[in-house]
Amino acid sequence: MQPFLVTHDIFRRPAFGRHHPLATGRQAAVMDLIDALGWRDPALTRVPDIPGRAVLERFHAREYLDALEQADATGRATAEMRARYNLGTMECPVFAGLWDRARATVGGSMLAAELVLAGGVAFHPTGGTHHGMPGRASGFCYLNDPVFAVQRLLDAGLTRVLHVDLDAHHGDGVEAVFADDPRVLLASIHEDGRWPGTGRVTDTLGGRAVNVPVPRGINDTEYALVLDDLMMPFVRSVEPEAILVLLGADGLAGDPLSAMRLSNTALWTACRELIALAPRAVILGGGGYNPWTTAGHDIGGALPDDAQAILSKLDCDLVDDEDRDPLWLTTLVDAPNAGPIRPDVAELIERHPMRAQSPR
Ligand SMILES: [Zn+2]
Repeated sequence: MQPFLVTHDIFRRPAFGRHHPLATGRQAAVMDLIDALGWRDPALTRVPDIPGRAVLERFHAREYLDALEQADATGRATAEMRARYNLGTMECPVFAGLWDRARATVGGSMLAAELVLAGGVAFHPTGGTHHGMPGRASGFCYLNDPVFAVQRLLDAGLTRVLHVDLDAHHGDGVEAVFADDPRVLLASIHEDGRWPGTGRVTDTLGGRAVNVPVPRGINDTEYALVLDDLMMPFVRSVEPEAILVLLGADGLAGDPLSAMRLSNTALWTACRELIALAPRAVILGGGGYNPWTTAGHDIGGALPDDAQAILSKLDCDLVDDEDRDPLWLTTLVDAPNAGPIRPDVAELIERHPMRAQSPR
């Protein structure tokens, strides 16, 4: 079954100001590449409604939404907004169109969930703001769209909804909201020692969560082992009625905000294997601070000229010229980053509580 694509013109607009890791034009590049490669099926492309306050207030505090709306309207944050809501900081700047963009991201994830209620797959590249907290902005996230997608599936009567987070950073906001909801299962592979520092191995939520903090420099071989030995057995055991996969292209080699070393083949393989285990799947884009690696998709050989032109126009302060792999501009499929299985990875898997729950 072909996946739905959820997008909105709002996501093409410049965002996050000038000096922010997300000011890379990555969303427009993703959409332009999809079009240049002829992948967009208009019949399967959907544009979300922008949700109003009543929808947002289900998870976000009124006073925080007031502040967000006011900051957007005035174009600036007060000292109190910075202190109380982390708004107008280097991390979560106020920029033109912030309120609409954040709400459209929520609307997109709700729509993606809705589109798969009868079965199938929906992809929302801009979704995945998993650090958003009920009452404050955090980690480049203002609202928490994955939470709304999960809730949409629960509202439809599902009782086993699995949120799998493959972003290099742990999804602390999603875990905080659903920590006590027995209908929600959580699984995450993220980089150990990386902000926000949550998602420890021992955080199992009584068997409803699997957290795998992997050491720096994880390669494709190690990643496949973590998937096969920890994630897939967990997903099979919970038999999810729906799965959300937050991809997080920041786990790819070359990302300035993580030290993970995955090829995009490893990430696509993980996604494909995971969504095959549930009748309904929502895929959210998540992080990704190297615009060239983030915009990728599964295609062999060299890219056509117009696609290469899109990638060559991107820029990013965080990736130095000498670190830019020429192949980022001309191909989409990375060479696999196979490597040895280091002792700390083997030990992480061997001692993981998930193994104790389901001996092989
Ligand atoms: Zn991330």
